[in-house]
Amino acid sequence: MGSTKYVFVTGGVTSSLGKGIVSASLGRLLKARGYEVTIQKLDPYINVDPGTLNPYEHGECYVTDDGAETDLDLGHYERFLDIQTSQANNVTTGRIYQSVINKERRGDYLGKTVQIIPHITDEIKRRVTLLGRKGEFDIIITEIGGTVGDIESLPYIEAVRQLRWDLGLENTVFIHLTLVPYLSASGELKTKPTQHSVKELLENGIQPDVLVLRSEHELDKDLRKKVALFCNVEKDAVIQSIDVSTIYEVPLLMKEEGLDVMVLKKLKLDSSESPDLKDWKTFVDRLKSSTKEIRIALVGKYVELHDSYKSIIESLSHAGVMNNVKVKVDCIHSEEVSADNVAEKFEGYNGILVAPGFGDRGIEGKIVSVNYARENKVPFLGICLGLQCAIIEFARNVIGYEDAHSTEMDSNTKHPVIDLMEEQKGVTRKGGTMRLGGYACELDEGSIVAEAYQAKVVRERHRHRYEFNNEFLEIFREHGMVPTGINPENGLVEIMEQPAHPWFVGTQFHPEYRSTALNPHPLFVAFIKAAIKNLK
Ligand code: GLN
Repeated sequence: MGSTKYVFVTGGVTSSLGKGIVSASLGRLLKARGYEVTIQKLDPYINVDPGTLNPYEHGECYVTDDGAETDLDLGHYERFLDIQTSQANNVTTGRIYQSVINKERRGDYLGKTVQIIPHITDEIKRRVTLLGRKGEFDIIITEIGGTVGDIESLPYIEAVRQLRWDLGLENTVFIHLTLVPYLSASGELKTKPTQHSVKELLENGIQPDVLVLRSEHELDKDLRKKVALFCNVEKDAVIQSIDVSTIYEVPLLMKEEGLDVMVLKKLKLDSSESPDLKDWKTFVDRLKSSTKEIRIALVGKYVELHDSYKSIIESLSHAGVMNNVKVKVDCIHSEEVSADNVAEKFEGYNGILVAPGFGDRGIEGKIVSVNYARENKVPFLGICLGLQCAIIEFARNVIGYEDAHSTEMDSNTKHPVIDLMEEQKGVTRKGGTMRLGGYACELDEGSIVAEAYQAKVVRERHRHRYEFNNEFLEIFREHGMVPTGINPENGLVEIMEQPAHPWFVGTQFHPEYRSTALNPHPLFVAFIKAAIKNLK
């Protein structure tokens, strides 16, 4: 199957141990040694993709340039590795079953009984090795979602067990991430859960090569020796992953622990030179040392779960580093903002960002937030629904269309300033049917955005059904809200600005999907710069 090597990352004991961050950190280290690396995620749920999932379930839905709606871990992969991922980087059980059932209906199985082994596992194996067949990558890291022992993960564990033999021992390495809890009553770190978790893996036929142990405290030599002995791994293959103040520090810690060297050794690849982490270190140092603080209010309706706005929060922090400031983001629940309390809510914020979203809930609070930003000249960034709210606010309060709305919320409005896109009319199926992925956008010379991007044409990712209704374009222009980014192919408005305001930008696309640690997004950088100017 070619010369691509595979790293499989499983998790044990509990979920949320940061498998995505450890995978991304390993990826960064391998890339810093000159290897071509990508990361993929296997998700054990039955949804075909997370596009139909409420953000409260698994956090934000991340969108790739090729229009895949994916797990938020792909965002970490792109932000850490500075790579573009694609549809092929996220596999779900739903997608696996969908392909197998489609094949069965076509008659491809020639009358055979279709079973989990070999048909589902073969399809998993096919998907896992898909990226490798392109011959572009030296190493592919595959993160297996869920926790070992879950019923849902079993077919994946079985498939990668088989792959170890299909691909060859020296072409695969298994990393298992577990937790070493600390019992404060006895003041002890406990290894038993790890031992049990490895046992569970062994029962499924997999002997992990490397153990990464999440812990709140340093693991001493004896503890590592004990884990190595009981779990049947080399002593140096017991790696500690201690809690840190920023996720961007994890690659540096993993390097200290020798995770990359161990993986390369197992894969029989060269590890003689050190990874080049100069830029990464600079980024982390600046992230940790900036003292000047900028406060940004992020207005949304899924704020109870921080992961709902993962990419936006990370983009703001990248932009802070670029501007040498610490960005403090507070999530403000749009349902709790009203005309009566808005001034109090936004007191002391240097910038306001209105988040993407769907549906009616919290919409008026978002519109009131935009109104506050516009009238008080607070730097404003509106993303997707955030732009749409800015358009509605302007139509109602500046142009004077009192009932202006998006037809998503009010299908009877006389002033549908946001309306369903032509191509969306007649679409009833929900999954994967929005306007998704990368499209070109032509920028207006002299605009805030042209200045920020230093470019004439950009490409940004989308995820929406509604758009600015171009019938209202002239009246918006006349009143001082102007389009400064247009899709050159179909004339859709992608960006609006208000030139009378110091910094007011709304984008129909999602800039947050393109910001990476080492390449912060120009719009976020410019937004933070404007917020700094607004420091009282
Ligand atoms: N609900 C809006 C639409 O579909 C905005 C979507 C979004 O913010 N991602 O157009």
